[in-house]
Amino acid sequence: MSTVITNIATLVTNDPSLGDDSPLGLVRDAAVVIDGDRVVWTGASSRAPATDNRVDAEGRTVLPGFVDSHSHLVFAGDRTEEFNARMSGRPYGAGGIRTTVAATRAAGDGDLEANLTRLLAEALRQGTTTFETKSGYGLTVEDEARALRIAARHTDEVTYLGAHIVAPEYAGDPAAYVDLVTGEMLDACAPHARWIDVFCEKGAFDGDQARAVLTAGRAKGLHPRVHANQLSHGPGVQLAVELDAASADHCTHLTDADVDALANGDTVATLLPGAEFSTRAEWPDARRLLDAGVTVALSTDCNPGSSFTSSMPFCVALAVRDMGMTPDEAVWSATAGGAAALRRTDIGRLGPGARADLLLLDAPSHVHLAYRPGVPLAAGVWRRGVRVV
Ligand SMILES: [Zn+2]
Repeated sequence: MSTVITNIATLVTNDPSLGDDSPLGLVRDAAVVIDGDRVVWTGASSRAPATDNRVDAEGRTVLPGFVDSHSHLVFAGDRTEEFNARMSGRPYGAGGIRTTVAATRAAGDGDLEANLTRLLAEALRQGTTTFETKSGYGLTVEDEARALRIAARHTDEVTYLGAHIVAPEYAGDPAAYVDLVTGEMLDACAPHARWIDVFCEKGAFDGDQARAVLTAGRAKGLHPRVHANQLSHGPGVQLAVELDAASADHCTHLTDADVDALANGDTVATLLPGAEFSTRAEWPDARRLLDAGVTVALSTDCNPGSSFTSSMPFCVALAVRDMGMTPDEAVWSATAGGAAALRRTDIGRLGPGARADLLLLDAPSHVHLAYRPGVPLAAGVWRRGVRVV
């Protein structure tokens, strides 16, 4: 069953060879043809081939579905009061995660999955067609494995984050907790995950501990990604590059050496502006990274503590307004950048062979994602060729 979406004012392909030679590969007055779960053709609307079905985009914009490469969606509980207090002047520390750990451990599987499903539907309505999500609110062998089993029912991009914080029971003996994370917990979790992650930060895990976690995961076939340099300068970014992590996430506090390492490696810098917004923290400097030649992704970091947004359009708007990105760069980073951060080539682009994950935007241009902040512009979403919104 083939479908042509025609009369597209602006088509974002993220393939320069298909469009105007810009990184977004823009095609004006365009059409895109879907067959099954794949894109099979893009080009000028006037030259679109015959298909079984036809959708008129009525002069609106089509872009690849957003790739949200960093979220924490398997949790229970609510941290409204913590947010409210913080916005009244109390600083954020990593310890707030313990509140969610207690609530998550106490929750039943059904409640955890229902919450995950609700958040995924919310993200999908805003155009997110691929998401990564992590464990990290269980911090016991059984609770971490349970979180990953639940997540794996909803996405292929599942990340084991037993090293989110030291479990409360091990507060007096962090080394024993690292042994658990790299031993019995890893054995139980590795079958359900693709990635391993660690929160490398003061108050969480130092460079040596992070290295132990990531190398143990790699030995079990998991690929590294790192929560790096969020709250302070630290070894996370350079460790990520050294271990060929797919992504170093946050990158808010960087030295010149950190930027050089990212520019010379294959590790994507994933920026999470929802976290800085929701903690009133200093913005990451996207301009500095882009000017150095670093590949930048944008993601929500959706979690109940430091960034409770599922909205990629919101992150695009923040990145443009406050992080020095152009609208074109931000849209690329929220689509192709996210795909790069997951080492995927089948998503984040709209050319022949790509997965048919499309967002129809109720606007004549992708720039409206930043130009019209907070406005629900998603008029249609296709995932694997099926219209779901
Ligand atoms: Zn995170």
